[in-house]
Amino acid sequence: MEMACLDLEGVLIPEIWINFAERTGIDELKATTRDIPDYDVLMRQRLQILRRHKLGLGDIQAVIAGMSPLEGAREFLDWLRERFQVVILSDTFYEFAAPMMRQLGHPTLLCHKLAIADNGMVEDYHIRQKDPKRQAVKAFHDLNFRVIAAGDSYNDTSMLAEADRGILFRPPQNVIDEFPQFPVVTDYAAFRDAFREASNRTL
Ligand SMILES: [Mg+2]
Repeated sequence: MEMACLDLEGVLIPEIWINFAERTGIDELKATTRDIPDYDVLMRQRLQILRRHKLGLGDIQAVIAGMSPLEGAREFLDWLRERFQVVILSDTFYEFAAPMMRQLGHPTLLCHKLAIADNGMVEDYHIRQKDPKRQAVKAFHDLNFRVIAAGDSYNDTSMLAEADRGILFRPPQNVIDEFPQFPVVTDYAAFRDAFREASNRTL
């Protein structure tokens, strides 16, 4: 039995923080795991910036509600869900992802949770576990699933390495250079082909 594990941002939806930064004009919020691989360092920096600008969860959710999945993402995901058990493994937070999950047909999502203060400010964040994407793949292996994983960034590479097969979707050049063992695709048609190729079944 095969399971498909997908990253969310950069694979199915745009980078939430980059979009938020563009709409608010706060350039320093554009940093992602592509720039700062240490997720805790990155998140502490983001929360500090939000506090400094007095921006709460409501402001962030208002921006996210206006965003759409990447063009062709919903169709790709529907195709994949007909052929695999699909789980989305993300370093985002349920509070941020909710409006996007609605547009994607509510696929299963394993991610993190925010701590919101009474005044709506993002007080802290709770990481479910360390290296969660890799841990999820390990757990699916324990459940006797063969795993094909796909992502676009540094924070996906341990998941891709743990999986039986890994695929990079629209990765930045530095990730391509550092992880030449993973095939690279840049559109959803090639993404389907990569899953067909990685599968041990005829799809
Ligand atoms: Mg990503």
